[in-house]
Amino acid sequence: MQELRNFVDGQFVDGSAEFDKVGPVDGSVVARVHEAGAMVVDRAVRSAQRALEGPWASLSVNDRAQLLRRLADRIDERAEDLLAAEIGDTGKPEALARRLDVARAAQNFRAFADVVAAAGLDSFLTETADGQRALNYALRRPIGVVAVIVPWNLPLLLLTWKVAPALACGNAVVVKPSEETPSSATVLAEIIAEVGIPDGVFNLVHGFGPGSTGELLTTHPGIDAVTFTGESRTGAAIMRAVAPRVRPVSFELGGKNAAVVFDDADLDRTVAGLARSVFTNTGQVCLCTERVYVQRGIYDEVVAGLVERAEQLRLGDPRDPATTTGPLISHAHREKVLSYLAMAEDQGAKVAVGGGIPAMGAGLEGGSWIQPTLWTGVDNSMPVMREEIFGPVAGLVPFDTEAEAIRLANDTDYGLAAAVWTQDIDRGHRVAASMKVGMSWVNTWYLRDLRSPFGGSALSGIGREGGHHSLDFYTSPTNVCVAL
Ligand code: NAD
Repeated sequence: MQELRNFVDGQFVDGSAEFDKVGPVDGSVVARVHEAGAMVVDRAVRSAQRALEGPWASLSVNDRAQLLRRLADRIDERAEDLLAAEIGDTGKPEALARRLDVARAAQNFRAFADVVAAAGLDSFLTETADGQRALNYALRRPIGVVAVIVPWNLPLLLLTWKVAPALACGNAVVVKPSEETPSSATVLAEIIAEVGIPDGVFNLVHGFGPGSTGELLTTHPGIDAVTFTGESRTGAAIMRAVAPRVRPVSFELGGKNAAVVFDDADLDRTVAGLARSVFTNTGQVCLCTERVYVQRGIYDEVVAGLVERAEQLRLGDPRDPATTTGPLISHAHREKVLSYLAMAEDQGAKVAVGGGIPAMGAGLEGGSWIQPTLWTGVDNSMPVMREEIFGPVAGLVPFDTEAEAIRLANDTDYGLAAAVWTQDIDRGHRVAASMKVGMSWVNTWYLRDLRSPFGGSALSGIGREGGHHSLDFYTSPTNVCVAL
């Protein structure tokens, strides 16, 4: 049995308790995890504080960028270990983990090495009304010790998306991965040590959220900022935890994302894109589409096309190349998704495909499998069209006019992502810009440029990360004013 320890000040250390990580493919225990209690969390924060006074602080920006590039290369070299960790924890298909999670982890470090190496500074030649002259320039200082708290759906991708810019800016981090996905973060800690990043710059603490490691970390007085990805409710709890000490937060939270399909869309491309946006990672991507609004003239065709795509998905062993779709992360999460399936039917939704637990057989019965599910006969008043479900599910609703489509798509408490499908170039730009979200795609979904702003509004988050937006969060500017 694999044992996963905390990583503090360059050493793997035991926790105060241990818990089992259960794999979602067949329900077997995949690792024994050391939960960090108050003492380990405190040691982690203190070691990060010390690292900020040590050799890390005197490295040049280019030296730091060089270290991050070496880290990216080492991630590529240890891709198979990271893959095994991600697959064991999440059950996601190997091809997806390879293409998305592991590749993006390396890319995150390379991208932020480039961003920080090329970053400029604000400067102004100042002339005051009373005739004084000065040069003003703003320096970026690291913000300090950053708590990085991430979820289980894209564990390594989301963790490195925050650790990379935090380290690029010269901070030290204390990372808490989800209790559901402790493995890849532990491999990353080994890689951090292998490439020679100074002790204490990257610390890893395992455990749960409330009443456990997550809460201990966010309430620790030594934390200078919190960057968090996860549920909106958890974001609210973290805001309350840091409020007494007024610490900055960057929040990437939940979504209830809409796709809007106009009758001039390229149908094949649209249905393929919708299938990707609804079912990728078993619907467990914050950007996944759970609401699909389709112009009435092509509604039946789009429903039929998407149902056909759902029926083509192959659930099964993540290492089998024919598998397209893994299980949900846990039985607890499946219970949540099943409760929405029941609720939809109770409230009169029509199940176009799926709707329950599939028969898996052959050793997979103990896993948290779910059928990809589509509903018709739903509307925006129903909880299944308002609340984030985070599974391979979507409701399809017809509309008549562009104005109606925009109104329906924006009728949500969330504001993360949207996708517009049309061949009318003007309409594409116009409708994409009308979406009250952080990311609006036209004729695609989840196509990312790491320099562009990423995040959401309303219940979907606070702030943006990506490119210079990340530098803005992970640094604290000091303006220097020199009289001339
Ligand atoms: P979650 O909020 O339950 O947990 C996320 C992390 O927070 C975990 O590490 C958990 O242990 C920790 N945590 C929980 N309660 C805490 C507390 N009180 N104090 C400190 N830490 C605490 O989320 P999840 O179920 O792991 O992930 C799914 C959610 O993440 C979905 O809502 C999804 O939309 C969201 N998500 C958002 C984005 C984005 O970029 N906007 C990306 C991926 C996932």
